Amino acid sequence: MNDFFTADISSADPLISEAINNEVRRQADGLELIASENFVSKAVLETMGSVFTNKYAEGYPGKRYYGGCEFSDVVEQAAIDRAKELFGCEHANVQPHSGAQANMAVLLTALDHGDTILGMSLAHGGHLTHGHPLNFSGINYKVADYGVSRDTEQIDYDDLQKKAEEHRPKLLICGASAYPRVIDFARIGEIARSVGAMVMADIAHIAGLVATGLHPSPIPHCEFVTTTTHKTLRGPRGGMAMCKEEFAADLNKRVFPGVQGGPLIHIIAAKAVAFGEALKPDFKAYQQQVLDNARVLSQTLADSGLRIISGGTDNHLVLVDVFLDGKGITGKEAEAALGDVHITVNKNTIPFDTNKPFVASGIRVGTPALTTRGMKEDEMRAIGSMIAEVIHDPASEDVKTKVKREVAELTARFPMYRSRTDTGGALPVSAG
Ligand SMILES: *Cc1c(COP(=O)(O)O)cnc(C)c1O
Repeated sequence: MNDFFTADISSADPLISEAINNEVRRQADGLELIASENFVSKAVLETMGSVFTNKYAEGYPGKRYYGGCEFSDVVEQAAIDRAKELFGCEHANVQPHSGAQANMAVLLTALDHGDTILGMSLAHGGHLTHGHPLNFSGINYKVADYGVSRDTEQIDYDDLQKKAEEHRPKLLICGASAYPRVIDFARIGEIARSVGAMVMADIAHIAGLVATGLHPSPIPHCEFVTTTTHKTLRGPRGGMAMCKEEFAADLNKRVFPGVQGGPLIHIIAAKAVAFGEALKPDFKAYQQQVLDNARVLSQTLADSGLRIISGGTDNHLVLVDVFLDGKGITGKEAEAALGDVHITVNKNTIPFDTNKPFVASGIRVGTPALTTRGMKEDEMRAIGSMIAEVIHDPASEDVKTKVKREVAELTARFPMYRSRTDTGGALPVSAG
């Protein structure tokens, strides 16, 4: 095994190597519009592939259960310090392996088994971890939910106040996966205090906007704030939990040893790198472009006869009704037809959907990934037209051939990771 420490993946494991190459090409050759995805920098990618993956570091900086943690302490402390600067929070735990685990740690911190939570309904844009019956949150706690109003398709805060008074939750959960409008965290904080509840804001989707002040921050209004690090925040796949100082020690105990063992130091190091990027002025310009692009994409889709849920967008995503009361196609059909032309979106239920979740009446599109590639308003107009053309005529091979060519021409103008070094050494030189 002379070459154990030196052989590239291309010679070590051709099957996986080829899959990586194919994935590099798939990401480069398609238009990525999944609202929860993004493309990390080479620096983040390289850090994720670093030797920190070899290290056990159970515990926290300065208080570890293993030796040899001096450099793990450096990266975890940097991630914590940068997170606090970025969000202005009193305490940050950067160890959660994912957004779901950050939420689990907070629920364990705030609640006893059987307590009541009030969360946004999944069908109206909420998340599984906010009380879905098949998720730990729905299994271990009593759940009540709130949603959007029929007319505005925006959160009905008066109804939320009523639900809070009716159910008296111990924890009110806000934040969403498919909600295109500003969330009024101040109002939600007031509602919670009026019934003696605590609040967890889950900013998994909008963290990058919050970090740059382009969406109001939940930090002053909430006991707990959780996020993923890989969506608009553009870091490695992972989670983070923030809280007021009074809950810090409890939250740390709930993350480890409550729900996790050893932290992923290579990912925490990459979180530190991503947070460092997010503290630079460039990142705010990027987030502003994400917003501008979403607005133009939304307008283009509306102009082409599709219905935009809530009439527009304030953030990075657009929820589009493609079913149009049976005059259009289902979300499932739209996702597949767009996939054929290398435009990647996900089907999504719309509020008060008459189709089942696996079929759905809508698609969700987001601009974080394409904005990272450098695309701007002109490209959004072109992409909006391509999407509309395919949805209005999903069976036409002529349309598909034409749009596929347009996608190829467009993506070729916005190159991404191009060589073995650009992906942190994970690719063979021949990757192109
Ligand atoms: C994506 C998301 C999560 C979960 O993130 P994972 O890292 O996939 O576990 C949690 N909450 C919301 C609102 C999300 O959108």
